[in-house]
Amino acid sequence: MRYISTRGNAPVLDFKDVTLAGLAADGGLYVPEPWPSFSRDEIAAMAGLSYVETAVRVMAPFTAGVLNEADLSDLCTAAYGRFAHDAVTPLVQLDHRHWLLELFHGPTLAFKDVALQLVGLLFERFLTGSTEHLTVIGATSGDTGSAAIDALAGRAGVDIFMLHPEGRVSDVQRRQMTTVLAPNVHNIAIRGDFDTAQALVKAMFRDPAFSARFRLSAVNSINWARLMAQVVYYLYAAIRLGAPDRRIAFSVPTGNFGDVFAGYVAARMGLPVERLIVATNVNDILHRALSSGDYSSGTVTPTATPSMDIQVSSNFERLLFELSGRDGGALAAQMAGFEATKAMRLTNAQREGAAGLFTSARIDEDAMAQAIGAAYRGSGQVIDPHTAIGLAAARADAGDTPIVTLATAHPAKFRDAVERASGVRPALPARVGDLFEREERFDTVDATFDAVSGYIAQRAHPRT
Ligand SMILES: *Cc1c(COP(=O)(O)O)cnc(C)c1O
Repeated sequence: MRYISTRGNAPVLDFKDVTLAGLAADGGLYVPEPWPSFSRDEIAAMAGLSYVETAVRVMAPFTAGVLNEADLSDLCTAAYGRFAHDAVTPLVQLDHRHWLLELFHGPTLAFKDVALQLVGLLFERFLTGSTEHLTVIGATSGDTGSAAIDALAGRAGVDIFMLHPEGRVSDVQRRQMTTVLAPNVHNIAIRGDFDTAQALVKAMFRDPAFSARFRLSAVNSINWARLMAQVVYYLYAAIRLGAPDRRIAFSVPTGNFGDVFAGYVAARMGLPVERLIVATNVNDILHRALSSGDYSSGTVTPTATPSMDIQVSSNFERLLFELSGRDGGALAAQMAGFEATKAMRLTNAQREGAAGLFTSARIDEDAMAQAIGAAYRGSGQVIDPHTAIGLAAARADAGDTPIVTLATAHPAKFRDAVERASGVRPALPARVGDLFEREERFDTVDATFDAVSGYIAQRAHPRT
């Protein structure tokens, strides 16, 4: 499989290089050159498969030419063997129409483990035996950082530098990062907010001298391999509920549009998806874009769902590329306009194309809290605030199609907000049991380019 950039002007890469790369050189994001697809019979034949077997079927076309099926199977067995539930991503029924797809049984309690446990193993495999050393740099509002650190700790050939905004992540989130003491893990608390941390990371990737010195890589959801791994659970869940004979809708709590784009990919590959509900909090750029064509970013309002407090949804570009007839030149011009003015209008073709599969809803803090309380009273399920945004959007959907809401975090990861809404304080699961006794290690650094890039340059391995 070959991968091309959404802006049409970057080298075509194979699966290995697209995994190790971050952004494409032209500023775009990589997508597969043709979308692979499954026939109805091929989907029906996945009915009895385990999660790992399903993962191998779904990902094999994307990794073809770089990994054979036996290798892919070994990697998936190792990655998903670390999950605390034998179904990896179990479905839980709420009532006759609604289900939760629990994606939080990985080591760090959020759905990002599903992709990053595999990506960590892919990095190690692609770097083993080479003299190359990878320097992963990321900014996190909490969940990506803990999942990436768990996945990369102690792996050969890679260092990870994770920036988090000082004092703005939850205690559980911070400790999941800072108590990992492997020598290749470097936690940096930035004296600034998440947007500042993110801007510093982007500046390091763009700095010619810095990126010439170190082989930089990204683990946020612009990384294609992450999205690929997330396609699996859409098929796994829908097949369990009767696909391909029965059409299923999904409601997806959304920030960077990564998770819900994976649902789009599942539909492109032949899964009969009735609809994808894009559920946002009050930071609603995606809801405005899908309902009125207005894609314009303002300032972030902090909410109880910090992983969705986003004003620019990077992966939306991948959808716009598909909805513009894959015209990279036109999309590059449209995105340049957005980067200059922080606003753009979707074209009619983009709006109509999106309306064929996507709907959207904006859920405020009250409606989110009510959804937590209602899930607890109605079916005894304690859900996290991000999941509650998805469930509230699902319940607002008219019709009778079965809807699967993606449960993206374990309620204990956000237990203060959950307790406020339901009166129940969820216990941390045993797999993170002594988190609050473990030693923490991180450095606090000023939010300037020189301070952060200097800190990293002192500790990273230069290119050979
Ligand atoms: C990252 C995250 C999201 C948003 O996912 P995107 O792929 O950015 O849309 C939702 N919920 C939780 C708990 C997350 O960690």
